[in-house]
Amino acid sequence: MVKFRVEHQKDICIGCGACAAIDPENWEMDGDKSRLKGAEKEEGTGIEFMVVEEANLGSNKEAADACPVPCIFVKEVKE
Ligand code: SF4
Repeated sequence: MVKFRVEHQKDICIGCGACAAIDPENWEMDGDKSRLKGAEKEEGTGIEFMVVEEANLGSNKEAADACPVPCIFVKEVKE
């Protein structure tokens, strides 16, 4: 089964709101940054991430494409 890691490098997010506008199911604003809903935090890196099955990827790829920094990355996880 194909899974994807959705990663948000929150420390460099500029809070433009594009991700939350495109994919409100997965993204919301959190002060001057956005937040990936339900994500885990990677200690000491400023990264939040989650691993989802393809069926639950939603519009995360579109959000990544729209991010102007970019600080959203969607990568296939090899098992
Ligand atoms: S689109 Fe990118 S820069 Fe804009 S709020 Fe979302 S993660 Fe941050």
